[in-house]
Amino acid sequence: MPESLAELRRDLAVAYRMVANEGILDAFGHISVRNPNNPQRYFLSRSRAPSLVQAGDILEYDLDSNPIVPPKERPYSERVIHGEIFKARPDVNAVCHHHAPSIMPFAISGAPLLPVFHLGASMGLSAPVWDSRDEFGDTNLLVVKPEEGASLARALGAASIVVMRRHGATVVGGSLRELVFRTIYSAKNAEHQLAAHVLGNVSPLTAGETQMAFEIHRAPGPLARAYEYWVRRLAEREGRSKNDPMLRAAEAAARLPAPAKPASAKAKSGAKKKSRGR
Ligand SMILES: [Zn+2]
Repeated sequence: MPESLAELRRDLAVAYRMVANEGILDAFGHISVRNPNNPQRYFLSRSRAPSLVQAGDILEYDLDSNPIVPPKERPYSERVIHGEIFKARPDVNAVCHHHAPSIMPFAISGAPLLPVFHLGASMGLSAPVWDSRDEFGDTNLLVVKPEEGASLARALGAASIVVMRRHGATVVGGSLRELVFRTIYSAKNAEHQLAAHVLGNVSPLTAGETQMAFEIHRAPGPLARAYEYWVRRLAEREGRSKNDPMLRAAEAAARLPAPAKPASAKAKSGAKKKSRGR
């Protein structure tokens, strides 16, 4: 967990660049995080392509998406997506809105996005679909009015991702790391579901499988392991040294102690030694 707001701003900027580096965000899309010291506020970059975002670009907003300090530079026009979701979902501490190529066929066709593999279960059982036409008729598709953001938040309901017809998707998480994991793996899930559809016989996870795999993939171990991997890939792209603080922090966080053995296993220790790593 970040120790200060300065660290949180750095983590948020890294999340932008990391998710962009994985092909989910391009010139557009954005990520926000709730202020842990004041849940009525959140952080979001100024209007900038995600792969370029730095800590100094991060602005703070109230939940009506008004800036706390008048910004010198243009904010994202779609920031109400974040504010209205934070308002409606006290359990959500991070939000990503994107137009990932793998999600777009689902957003365009309205075909249901379903968890089709274990890591894809991080998206939850299903993805509700929001269609701006239902309440607002013809628009320019951007979610810029508070009532549009509130409508999207209602469609999201208690889910982890909402597909936005002819636009993209919005993903939520309890923490920035959980959000990054869910954003990347729900996009991979969409890619795999579409590829499997070509072969036919798409068999999604059962509700029970989804629930169990969903829980595993929000535990600190898998989140830290994946985060270290994505940070390393970003650091390579950005030409950072191996001693870069961003990399070293991610490496340290992913170096977890071995799980304590239950008493019965201790008695038998030595009989069978097998790595628990996956
Ligand atoms: Zn958008």
